[in-house]
Amino acid sequence: MKKIVVIGGGFAGISVIRDLRDVEDAEIILISNDTEFRYTPALYHTATGGLKRESSMPVQDLISTTPRAKFILAKADKIDRAKKSISLDNGDTIHYNYCVLALGVITNYFGAEGLDRYSYSIKSAKEVEKLKQHLHEQLIDDKRTDDNYVIVGAGPTGVELGSALGAYIKKIARLHKVKKNKVTIEIVEAADRILPSLSEKAANIALKRLKQIGVKVSVKSRVKSETREGLILEDRTIETQTVVWTAGISNNPFFQNNADQFMLDKKNKVIVDDYMCVDKFVFVVGDNAATKFSGMAQTAIVQAKYVSHGIKRLLAGKEFKPFKQASPIYAIPISPKQAIITWKNLSFGGFIGGALRSVADLIGYADIMGYRKAFSLWTNSEHYEETCSVCNAANIK
Ligand SMILES: Cc1cc2nc3c(=O)[nH]c(=O)nc-3n(C[C@H](O)[C@H](O)[C@H](O)COP(=O)(O)OP(=O)(O)OC[C@H]3O[C@@H](n4cnc5c(N)ncnc54)[C@H](O)[C@@H]3O)c2cc1C
Repeated sequence: MKKIVVIGGGFAGISVIRDLRDVEDAEIILISNDTEFRYTPALYHTATGGLKRESSMPVQDLISTTPRAKFILAKADKIDRAKKSISLDNGDTIHYNYCVLALGVITNYFGAEGLDRYSYSIKSAKEVEKLKQHLHEQLIDDKRTDDNYVIVGAGPTGVELGSALGAYIKKIARLHKVKKNKVTIEIVEAADRILPSLSEKAANIALKRLKQIGVKVSVKSRVKSETREGLILEDRTIETQTVVWTAGISNNPFFQNNADQFMLDKKNKVIVDDYMCVDKFVFVVGDNAATKFSGMAQTAIVQAKYVSHGIKRLLAGKEFKPFKQASPIYAIPISPKQAIITWKNLSFGGFIGGALRSVADLIGYADIMGYRKAFSLWTNSEHYEETCSVCNAANIK
């Protein structure tokens, strides 16, 4: 029996496994180093009071629609393409007939010292929980808000977090009965404008909205380091104990650790052919692949659907067509009900954008859990939850 091995339980990996549900004559294995799947577009929302289950779901539940799929909790360390095998950190070696690599990216502080120790991040449920705990503990221990809340990076994650964080801190400060609650949110960006990867029009709409809600934006500001007392930029220091790093990522170290097995581009992403392959048996998809729209969940899902279709054709002894991808649509929340939409040359913001982003979330959830479960989660997405006992007690009164 043929063996299909998928590495990484993220957008691409889960989508591949789910799309293989009708494959009957193959062994299907998902290997991931996390029992939870991260729905990253909602992490900013969970970080500002939204439900944890909006952004974090058990991998096992998501792949249960593919009864043949077996989940192994382990980290993939090595690949040997000649032997068609993957070595895991638990000492096991798994052989494959077809392998899909979808390991995502990791945080990169670009050598800025202290950031790994003192800054917060929102790339996983664990990181979100750590940030929230810090925000609440500060209010409990110091009985005041921080001098400054700083977000490093004005990409989509920095902008969506920046547009929600101020209101959230004011809300929890009220629940903690903290009187002095002037809240200063600052987004620091090294490039000369915000949303550097999107159109200037989209950036201007976002900037206008951020100014309206009092978020300070500093462009051409490069971070040098962070200490316990503050964030050190090239030209000044910001006093703060709350820095959220959204700025840097780099490709999963798996590929550099297996550099003899892959051709990497200058960002260390894997160069794939027109079939998302590095050879006839190994596919690389999502954030790991050096493709035009790499770095987006939509891209990962579209490529996963293509690859699972391709594997089914190969199992049936048939050929399949080269991969083609349409331009993705960016939808960046800028308030609870508004978002910026940008697609090709079109950019607009407002309530219609907010409605479109909401529909995009429904589709995004449906892609990884099916419409029935997605709808139930989506209709609850305006509910809030806290683990902080002070906030919960204040809310009950
Ligand atoms: C905060 C945030 C917000 C975002 N918002 C959006 C958005 O609104 N829209 C959008 O389109 N994109 C968004 N993105 C980008 C999007 O999350 C990624 O493009 C997408 O997750 C890529 O999917 P993937 O399957 O390639 O990797 P991932 O979804 O990152 O999955 C990788 C998986 O591999 C596992 N893994 C890693 N290393 C190993 C190993 N060695 N062995 C085994 N398993 C391993 C990881 O635990 C993870 O489960 C956002 C990203 C972040 C961080």
